[in-house]
Amino acid sequence: MKALQMYIDGKWTKSSNARTIDVKNPSSGETIATIPRGTEEDVNRAVLAAKAAFHGEDWRKVKAFERGEMLFAIADKIKLHRDELAELESTDVGKPLSQAYSDVDAAIRYFRFYGGAADKVMGDTIPIEDGLLNYVVREPVGVTAHIIPWNYPLQIISRSVAAAIATGNTVVVKSAEDTPLTATRLTEFFEKLDLPAGVFNHVTGIGHEAGAALAGHPLINHVTFTGSVGTGIAVGQAAMANVVPSTLELGGKSPNIVFADSDIEKTVEGVVRSIIQNAGQTCSAGARLLVEESFKQEFLEKVIERFSKLTVGAGMQDKDLGPILNEKQYQHVMGMIELANEEGNVLTGGKPVTVGGYEGGFYVQPTIIDGVSWNSRLAQEEIFGPVLNVFSFKDTGEALELANSTDYGLVTGIWTKDLNTAHYLASRIDSGQVFINNYGAGGGVQMPFGGYKKSGFGREKGWAALYNYTVLKNVAIKYN
Ligand code: NAD
Repeated sequence: MKALQMYIDGKWTKSSNARTIDVKNPSSGETIATIPRGTEEDVNRAVLAAKAAFHGEDWRKVKAFERGEMLFAIADKIKLHRDELAELESTDVGKPLSQAYSDVDAAIRYFRFYGGAADKVMGDTIPIEDGLLNYVVREPVGVTAHIIPWNYPLQIISRSVAAAIATGNTVVVKSAEDTPLTATRLTEFFEKLDLPAGVFNHVTGIGHEAGAALAGHPLINHVTFTGSVGTGIAVGQAAMANVVPSTLELGGKSPNIVFADSDIEKTVEGVVRSIIQNAGQTCSAGARLLVEESFKQEFLEKVIERFSKLTVGAGMQDKDLGPILNEKQYQHVMGMIELANEEGNVLTGGKPVTVGGYEGGFYVQPTIIDGVSWNSRLAQEEIFGPVLNVFSFKDTGEALELANSTDYGLVTGIWTKDLNTAHYLASRIDSGQVFINNYGAGGGVQMPFGGYKKSGFGREKGWAALYNYTVLKNVAIKYN
């Protein structure tokens, strides 16, 4: 079992009080590593180091294209260690190995995308009058904080850290206490880059300790948070108390809207994949199926048949679904299924699964719920498990109403051959991303991603994320 360390100011370190947290393999329940339980003091050291590095000449003198090359070097390292990282992510998160490979490949693409962008984030000139040159530069914001959830650790660290480094900032990462392993391996890659000490720091620890200390630290200049709505609000408020901007990527209750004219085979596959990925522990999971009433029975039969063929197993066994992260999450998922049994019908699944040789893991059958009201807790709240809620609609108007009927607005899938319907709905739906006849666009490193309503604000991914980490400065020069 490995005793991992944090990385602060260019040095590996334990926490200031030497306390640790056990890291478990969700597939088996076994403890596989320990990480330091970072304290307020540790966070303070990391932020001070990042501040000093940001103002130091060594980092300022690094050319934009050289920052890009550093990010390419990280991408190369990840590629070189692709198998190791995929196995680590699968073991730490419990996700099926092939899904962990997709995460590693997405991480490579983030570092390449933002590496390429590093010397292309340009300013502007503004025409005013003869003898007055007015220009706008995009400067780095300074010390950036990155608070990471447990479900896609490597991908989520990569997308925000790469954008922040590309634009010349310094970084303090707080990885998720449950899944810090790939974050630590990535930190080792950063160590090898020989960056000035303090440019990249990685603090581990508990959310309300190290996480809260980071979000509320008066010397940070931007917070990127991905996680639950409740924590996101606390993080946003802590940042606001210092008048610091935040980018909040929160949860979802995303719908797939299925019309009777859709291609049934492709749509079934899209709908099923969107809810079972990472055993439904995905912010953008297609958690609600809204299906045209006249098509409901035929479509549901196919979905149920597909669900019956899905396999469940340990992450490294690479079945369709892995375990739920831990007992707490499992109790939450099973509690919601119990509620479904009281308020509606469980059409398939709904039971725990025992996986031979992995009795310490928490596994759940893929489950379909029907017959609950659109405004019930089941229809409104994230279940964060492999549970699909089904609703039907009579016409496009009702489909739109149902789609927009939650507090969330992260992703929507629309399945139809009718382009009028698809475009109309895409223009009316409260959702940061809309997929028509697909769901996910293969990860979409280049596409801005983020929420409407309580799914958050600001955008990660794509070019848009670069603007989270820059601030505009306007300069006016009078000349004769
Ligand atoms: P969480 O909110 O419990 O924790 C997220 C991170 O915040 C962790 O690192 C945690 O240690 C830290 N944290 C907890 N309390 C804190 C506090 N008071 N101050 C500062 N930091 C604190 O979320 P989770 O359970 O890790 O992740 C699941 C949630 O994340 C789901 O709601 C999911 O939808 C959401 N999510 C969203 C996206 C997205 O991009 N929109 C992606 C993945 C997950």
